[in-house]
Amino acid sequence: MENTNIPEIFGSLVFNDKVMRERLSDDVYESLRKTIDENVKLDENVADAVAEEMKKWAIENGATHYTHWFQPLTGVTAEKHDSFITPAPDGGVVMEFSGKELIKGEPDASSFPSGGLRATFEARGYTAWDPTSYAFIKDHTLCIPTAFCSFSGEALDKKTPLLRSMQAINRQAKRILKLFGHEDVKYVKTSVGPEQEYFLIDREVWNRRPDLKYTGRTLFGAMPPKGQEMDDHYFGVIKPRVAEFMEDLNNELWKLGILAKTEHNEVAPAQHELAPIYSTTNVATDANQLTMEIMKKVANRHGMVCLLHEKPFAGVNGSGKHNNWSISTDTGINLMSPGETPYENAQFLLFLAAVIQAVDDYQDLLRLSVATAGNDHRLGANEAPPAIISIFLGDELSAVLDAIKNDKPYAGTQEVKMKLGVHALPRFRRDTTDRNRTSPFAFTGNKFEFRSLGSANSIACCNIMLNAAVAESLRQYADELENAEDFETQLHALIKRVITEHERILFDGNGYGEDWVKEATEVRGLSNLKTTADAMPRLLDEKNKKMLMDHKVFTEAELQSRCEIMLENYVKTVNIEGLTMVDMVRKNYLPAIERYLFRLAETTNLMRQVSSKVSCDYEVSTMERLAELTDCIMTAVVDLEKVLSTFKTLEDIFESSEFVRDEMLPKMETLRKYVDEAEMLTSQRDWPFPSYGQLLFSVN
Ligand code: ADP
Ligand code: MG
Repeated sequence: MENTNIPEIFGSLVFNDKVMRERLSDDVYESLRKTIDENVKLDENVADAVAEEMKKWAIENGATHYTHWFQPLTGVTAEKHDSFITPAPDGGVVMEFSGKELIKGEPDASSFPSGGLRATFEARGYTAWDPTSYAFIKDHTLCIPTAFCSFSGEALDKKTPLLRSMQAINRQAKRILKLFGHEDVKYVKTSVGPEQEYFLIDREVWNRRPDLKYTGRTLFGAMPPKGQEMDDHYFGVIKPRVAEFMEDLNNELWKLGILAKTEHNEVAPAQHELAPIYSTTNVATDANQLTMEIMKKVANRHGMVCLLHEKPFAGVNGSGKHNNWSISTDTGINLMSPGETPYENAQFLLFLAAVIQAVDDYQDLLRLSVATAGNDHRLGANEAPPAIISIFLGDELSAVLDAIKNDKPYAGTQEVKMKLGVHALPRFRRDTTDRNRTSPFAFTGNKFEFRSLGSANSIACCNIMLNAAVAESLRQYADELENAEDFETQLHALIKRVITEHERILFDGNGYGEDWVKEATEVRGLSNLKTTADAMPRLLDEKNKKMLMDHKVFTEAELQSRCEIMLENYVKTVNIEGLTMVDMVRKNYLPAIERYLFRLAETTNLMRQVSSKVSCDYEVSTMERLAELTDCIMTAVVDLEKVLSTFKTLEDIFESSEFVRDEMLPKMETLRKYVDEAEMLTSQRDWPFPSYGQLLFSVN
């Protein structure tokens, strides 16, 4: 490692506040700060001055190019590099970068998905600087975080609606805070700390698995004799090669100002986790995208491959991402944290009620915000939260809500009825709130942790929904309380009513059990949207559209296009998996089994020639079962091929996604089952691809 002085390298490749203050004139700095903090429009002269300094700084730090860095709906980040060079009259070049180039870019957007938006509106899109997320240098390129829109202003990315959702919650939360006398609050922001899980596999072994290469997950593979049942990997000693990777990764992330904080092994062999310190949601979103990208790059440098797929190995724990979320004011109050005084606690309980109502009213939006083909394999597989959304509050907070709901005394209030604004709440200790890991949405002391995200998900999607839904609860409360004659009485009544009406979403029990599925769906009427095909169309439900449009988070056209793009991603992903399976079976698995059968047959023949007494039990029984299996595999592969060709004829995306769910995925599962059984019967020497054991224990 070149430099071990962490404070010195931290953020050294970021045009952050410190750099801005040092390099920009006071006037320019002040007005840029206003834009960043209060969303005040930036004027052109300021932009020019910022661009000039940014360019100088970038060149001093080795950059030759710049790019508008954005997050299209494909899920990866996109960039198109332009160099700073501009021809000079003397035939040479000068390095130039204007305010206009900083603020707006026009990438050729035709290859990014738009779900028909650009066709209807405008053939091209533009990128617009997001000054609230700092510019940084990566691969000799100055990267400017931007939003990506069509010329008619429809968002074609994940950042634009995220910023809009942050505005929405800011607007409504400030109305509420005014009622509590916080006239001094200038803005309210949501913060996120995303914990990121991933697998590390040796590159040589990975290279020999076409399924991993083309689809990010294994489409075949029998379970290894040693899986995770020993639990010895979790928080175990980190292997030297992995430790070197982590050190290198941290170093890269720190340079980019990303607060990588903790790292440890996860439950499955070869699985690890990285958690950063939380930051403002849009900054955290950019940082998480960068983290994923850099994880892959650094792994490669160490001869490994970083798998971010949600379920790379069947039967082994998948990878998720925990979205730790809170709301706080610029004056330093965390609104998700119980306060010191009764009045602060009433405020906390109102914000808590807003989250409870939001999660109940918009369960489907939260569910679909994490829906992808990959994550469908995790949710509901008894390792990750179920596809059913519910909230865990812990014993203490549940008891408080119970006391309010039933006008009962609360243990902490000396046998008098719990009255908001009069009685103080205890501080909830972390260890009493974080016991239940099976809940998808858990209160953990001073924040909520949404655990349904898949490891490859952008955190933008769920935070858009969460912010917007909470903004909607707050809007309703503000409308009601702003006209209250007796604020405290009405506040108490409101909280009591919300807790009563939304009680069904609160569940502290085991979310992995079958009993819960029954209770949740049959008794409580919660939704259980198992697959992307089930969940995604809900984006277009009237209730959801109305809320998202009322808060100006999406337009109707944007919602339509997003729904289609997400379903397209789902359908394409599974289709590629199906094609890869057919390819592997026809070209490798069947010929390999055939080869082994031939050896068995030959051996049997020879042995019988040598002696009439040998029974050849092993050879004969293995041959018999393998011969049956090859028939089954053949039938299954032909079935899958039929489905794949029927699929090509479907045009409607909703129909295609249901077809994928009902026809394609089950056929793939059947095919896999036979091949995996054959793997157990075939000699390893003849098996064409590395086994699960070889993959999972490939890094030493
Ligand atoms: P774990 O869930 O693994 O026990 P922690 O609770 O320490 O770990 O932190 C998990 C993540 O939550 C970290 O990224 C941390 O920065 C983040 N976090 C802590 N406090 C807040 C907060 N108020 N708002 C948002 N995220 C937070
Ligand atoms: Mg966690």
